[in-house]
Amino acid sequence: MERPCVRVPREAGERTRETLAAADLVDEAHEIVVDDGDIYLPVTDADAAEREGYDVVYRDVPTHDTQRTPADLLGFDPSYERLGDVAILDEDDPDRARRIADAILDSDLPVRAVLDRASKVKGDLRVRDWTVLAAEDRDGRPPTELVHREYGFDYLLDLSTVYFSPRLATERHRVTEQTAEDERAVDMFAGVGPFVIPMAARGATVVGVDLNPTAIEFLRENAHRNGVEERVTAIQGDVRDVAADHADAADRIVMNLPHSADDFLDAAATLAGDDCVLHYYDIQHEDDPFGPGERAIREAATGYDVDVETRHVVRSYAPHELNVCLDVRLSR
Ligand code: SAM
Repeated sequence: MERPCVRVPREAGERTRETLAAADLVDEAHEIVVDDGDIYLPVTDADAAEREGYDVVYRDVPTHDTQRTPADLLGFDPSYERLGDVAILDEDDPDRARRIADAILDSDLPVRAVLDRASKVKGDLRVRDWTVLAAEDRDGRPPTELVHREYGFDYLLDLSTVYFSPRLATERHRVTEQTAEDERAVDMFAGVGPFVIPMAARGATVVGVDLNPTAIEFLRENAHRNGVEERVTAIQGDVRDVAADHADAADRIVMNLPHSADDFLDAAATLAGDDCVLHYYDIQHEDDPFGPGERAIREAATGYDVDVETRHVVRSYAPHELNVCLDVRLSR
């Protein structure tokens, strides 16, 4: 059966496998194939692997002899995402969803619960509704709770109470890799910590703010799990109320609330120190994806020189709409 595979020269195979494993992209149900000097590593998400910069091709790869895949049981290859030991579907037909869920649990994949998206992300907390299609006993843990591994960090989270998207892993890595030791960083919309924890692990002192009390509990737990709790301050509240307590102190600010970040630029200007890099996420029409954000930042950042260092397209969000990030240096 044809599967998406990352193709690299044979000598880069082991290094690539480790990087793919860190991003949770290895398709464990299929075998690695070597062919004519290249190695083909089956992956679970072709788009994510491409965003990592890999060459992705579709080719026949054998299934592991001992592993029964959902496709073996169903007779077709269903589409699903994996997050920890949970599989996530996006199916409209409830009967088909249930058949796929049963096949996933009956297969040899290390999956113990299957969820279907039941709404879009919504409200201030950006949490979506889920339908639990199938779940095994998980030692009393709810079927929506899981541990996700991303770039070597573990995140405990519950999809029914907090926002989380594994699709932003590459983008978070792009931003957090820019962090220098001894920086003071603020994540204004921190969630369970996927920006905060890698920044702290690079030696920064990081303040993470979130309106959602459950996200803040997970953020504290995740800081502890990843051994960076001494460099992380987790604050529950509206960041507009919190900003004055940390005024003029940030060397780096992350603003990942793309539909309404412009409402929070005054708070960002309060937080920014004399020389600060702002990572501003936005969702805009493809005709002018960066203009509205850039204008809003210039208007809010009075007293600063504003230098847009990067205009970066993160992903396509909807037809003709792009999720983008502006990396902007504010200097006073
Ligand atoms: N940065 C995290 C990530 O990448 O997973 C979470 C991003 S999520 C799109 C936005 C987060 O902002 C949510 O966790 C939500 O609870 C939080 N939020 C919304 N309004 C807020 C506010 N006024 N102050 C602080 N946090 C807020």
